Amino acid sequence: METSELRSKVAYLEGLSAGLSLNEGSGEGQLIKGIIGVLGAFAGSFEEMDKSYSHLKGYLESVDEDLSLLEDKFYDEEDELSGDTDYIEVECPDCAEKVYIDPEILDDDEVFEIACPNCSRIVFINEDNHISGQERGMIQMSANSPEEEDI
Ligand SMILES: [Zn+2]
Repeated sequence: METSELRSKVAYLEGLSAGLSLNEGSGEGQLIKGIIGVLGAFAGSFEEMDKSYSHLKGYLESVDEDLSLLEDKFYDEEDELSGDTDYIEVECPDCAEKVYIDPEILDDDEVFEIACPNCSRIVFINEDNHISGQERGMIQMSANSPEEEDI
């Protein structure tokens, strides 16, 4: 039952009891007045709960929407990482963890090391300011295809 319907039904009963010109001093009169009063209180509480519920529902829907957006963004980025062949793949010599290096950072002037995320062994050091295309190719070949028969 709709909240507004509940309210109007209680209001109807109130009107009805007033029209009956009940003797408010009598037991029956007090009982009916009491019942209608309790019904009115119920309708009021129900209305409050209904408002809270609608508010909560709206809030939950907006959280759900935000979560979907985040999920889409997250999985898009993951697809980019695994599908993009431009990343340099280095296998850790200690634990065989695959480490993906963004080729853009090779252009960085700073000397830096890249550690294996699994065992912290240094798997790559960028010592040179200018790594040539050939050297980049060698890094890629040695990392990607150890059993390539090119002899
Ligand atoms: Zn490792």
